Amino acid sequence: MTATDDTLTLPPVPTPGAARPATLEAEGISAWFGDHKVLDRVSLTMPAQRVTALIGPSGCGKSTFLRILNRMHELVGSAALAGRVLLDGQDIYDRGRRITHARRQIGMVFQKPNPFPAMSIHDNVLAGLKLNGTRASRAERDGLVEECLTKAGLWKEVRDRLRQPGGALSGGQQQRLCIARSLAVRPRVLLMDEPCSALDPTSTRRIEQTIAELSDEVTIVIVTHNMQQAQRVSHQCAFFLAEQGTPGLIVEHGPTDVMFGSPSDQRTADYVNGRF
Ligand code: ADP
Ligand code: MG
Repeated sequence: MTATDDTLTLPPVPTPGAARPATLEAEGISAWFGDHKVLDRVSLTMPAQRVTALIGPSGCGKSTFLRILNRMHELVGSAALAGRVLLDGQDIYDRGRRITHARRQIGMVFQKPNPFPAMSIHDNVLAGLKLNGTRASRAERDGLVEECLTKAGLWKEVRDRLRQPGGALSGGQQQRLCIARSLAVRPRVLLMDEPCSALDPTSTRRIEQTIAELSDEVTIVIVTHNMQQAQRVSHQCAFFLAEQGTPGLIVEHGPTDVMFGSPSDQRTADYVNGRF
């Protein structure tokens, strides 16, 4: 526990029944790395209280698109962007709107679990909170840690070892710790980039369960290469493709059962049936 812990500000507890999850809309997103155009006019609405799965072959721009949704793309020196991203109608790229404004509302979980390995499990959960001088009591902090670990499906496994380092957990537990850390700032949208592809089937199932339970309170966008997973967790899917050196675009999107049962584009049918 460091001195700065006493200046943690906890995010407000949402009013029960209040509509916290936001609708995220990408409008005409094109993206470049230097001269290399990697996304071409991608538009997609990711509705509140829905899970959206982004599917498609490697290299078609899914991770780039996800990073654009919370303003991480602009951190790459050579990166350029066109289009808009609206969070409940507000452009997160509006001039004057700070990058932290988007980050606090739009969390991200990566393929490789990345807890702070030497930091305790307890402190890892709180690591994303802003230090700005308002006191939060120890009880409040502990309450938030328990709440977020519970939501991430990890509480029972770690409640007796909260002071152990995050790095001591298994890979699947570390990923759930990262989910808890993301939830601690009470994001309105959670972006997940292949969150289970480094994990065993049991951990994968636990995270899918967590996604299902969270979808009421946070809008979820998940990139996955696992077609069964897309079908299990998502309400709608978008199929990305970059053909023969052209930039990535969305070939088709729609309700998950339609995308898998009767897609309108042959390329979607081929992809979801494992034909490329
Ligand atoms: P996906 O997640 O669908 O596999 P990515 O978004 O990672 O696709 O990559 C899309 C394209 O952008 C690829 O051609 C990739 O090489 C390129 N790319 C991704 N990140 C960078 C970067 N930081 N610098 C340059 N090119 C990049
Ligand atoms: Mg990727």
